[in-house]
Amino acid sequence: MKAAVKEMQITVVDRELMLRQRLSERLERVAGILCAVHGQPVVAVTIHARENGWFDSRWTTCCQGLEQQAVAIVKERC
Ligand SMILES: [Zn+2]
Repeated sequence: MKAAVKEMQITVVDRELMLRQRLSERLERVAGILCAVHGQPVVAVTIHARENGWFDSRWTTCCQGLEQQAVAIVKERC
């Protein structure tokens, strides 16, 4: 049986290109978690840089619970 594990899709919208680098460790951790209810990984995340290290994140997940776990790891500021 072929493993159907897909890598989490990460999109970072940041003019200065610093955010992806700064968040790489956190994003790696998020890519490794699975939903406790559905056993699914996070499908995708889009991060939009704001100012002074703040950012918005939009998540594609199986449910709200997994999204909250992901947000708790990545947070809203780097
Ligand atoms: Zn779930």
